[in-house]
Amino acid sequence: MTYLDDLTEVQSSNIAAIGERDGHLIVRFNNGVAYRYPERARTMDEMIAAESMGKFFHQNLAFAKCEKLCSKGCWSPVVDKCGLCQACLDKVNK
Ligand SMILES: [Zn+2]
Repeated sequence: MTYLDDLTEVQSSNIAAIGERDGHLIVRFNNGVAYRYPERARTMDEMIAAESMGKFFHQNLAFAKCEKLCSKGCWSPVVDKCGLCQACLDKVNK
């Protein structure tokens, strides 16, 4: 199971999908980059209810603590510029 399975597509000019798991909020942007916001799952309902999701994001999450997630959908932080976690990077380099 990847975090991509937990995402719900949304209508927004810059956000592609949002989701939550284990109390964490995940936001995936239209450019494909996803971020995990620790213990911010409750923010998801507020985001869905917001008139403008992009505006809500900038006001509430733009400067919040977050972690860029592996683009393959792993629950692991990205370790380099190509957007992969260590495990995926090891697979590519094999
Ligand atoms: Zn990975």
